[in-house]
Amino acid sequence: MEFPKKNSVNKTGKSEGVGTTDIIIVGAGVAGAALAYSLGKDGHRVRVIERDLNAPNRMAGESLTPGGYLNVGSIDCVDEIDAQQLLGYTLYKDGKEARVSFPLEKFQSHVAGRTFHNGRFIQRLRKKVASLHNVSLEQGTVTSLIEENGIVKGVHYKNGNGKLLTTYAPLTIVCDGCFSNLRRSLCYSKVDIPSYFVGLTLTNCNLPKENYGAIILAHPSPIVFYQISSTEIRCMVNVPSENVPSVSNGEMACYLKTQVAP
Ligand SMILES: Cc1cc2nc3c(=O)[nH]c(=O)nc-3n(C[C@H](O)[C@H](O)[C@H](O)COP(=O)(O)OP(=O)(O)OC[C@H]3O[C@@H](n4cnc5c(N)ncnc54)[C@H](O)[C@@H]3O)c2cc1C
Repeated sequence: MEFPKKNSVNKTGKSEGVGTTDIIIVGAGVAGAALAYSLGKDGHRVRVIERDLNAPNRMAGESLTPGGYLNVGSIDCVDEIDAQQLLGYTLYKDGKEARVSFPLEKFQSHVAGRTFHNGRFIQRLRKKVASLHNVSLEQGTVTSLIEENGIVKGVHYKNGNGKLLTTYAPLTIVCDGCFSNLRRSLCYSKVDIPSYFVGLTLTNCNLPKENYGAIILAHPSPIVFYQISSTEIRCMVNVPSENVPSVSNGEMACYLKTQVAP
């Protein structure tokens, strides 16, 4: 997908200045893109700099609760991406099951959770952002924040051609995800990883109850299933981090078959 690239370039020293704007947003994941859309709709001039404008290929962020849907539903982000309605989850344990439904009685019938391919959803959100005339969405990697007397004045970044650029704004918002290189000084950087999610995509099979995800409360950890398109189901298995088997040598497949599947 192509996004417009709006740059007016002025020379300033080693890197080129690309002018000022009201707000710089670093990162166009769900947080950066949704914020850019909202601020752009309010009339602000926003420059969004995203490291990779291709569709992300990840299994995180594949579901919206009904509350999330109500927020983004109004900007059509789950249309045309084969998103599936989610009404709740069925829990399974020791041969028993319990259904947990979202409390949707007071809402119109289209209000429900949604599940989808993360990359399709993010691209749809970015397309909405790029459609606003006062928002520019461009590919580039922010290399550092420009700080003067403890105040962030702008950013240095490398654009898609490797050119070093500089831009300034009264407000810079960093939405570069949980592995941020830019927010290290602002928060405690040690991250504890108690477990990993391992994901599989299952094709052409059905969940037991239409529009309901499934959670199996199994030993050693839970397994989650939900539809991500009309033909695909995501299966996510939580694996404790102290013994993550290798995918490349087949240990993971063996672990899933012998430890998880039974
Ligand atoms: C296994 C798993 C499942 C999850 N499932 C769900 C779910 O079902 N529903 C849900 O709501 N949430 C879910 N989450 C959480 C969700 O994925 C995150 O909360 C969400 O992705 C955070 O969004 P973000 O925009 O802050 O960061 P990200 O999605 O990580 O986006 C950050 C963006 O910044 C860009 N970037 C990074 N560094 C730079 C830089 N230096 N310069 C320019 N750009 C940069 C990246 O390319 C990226 O596009 C899940 C998480 C995991 C791990």
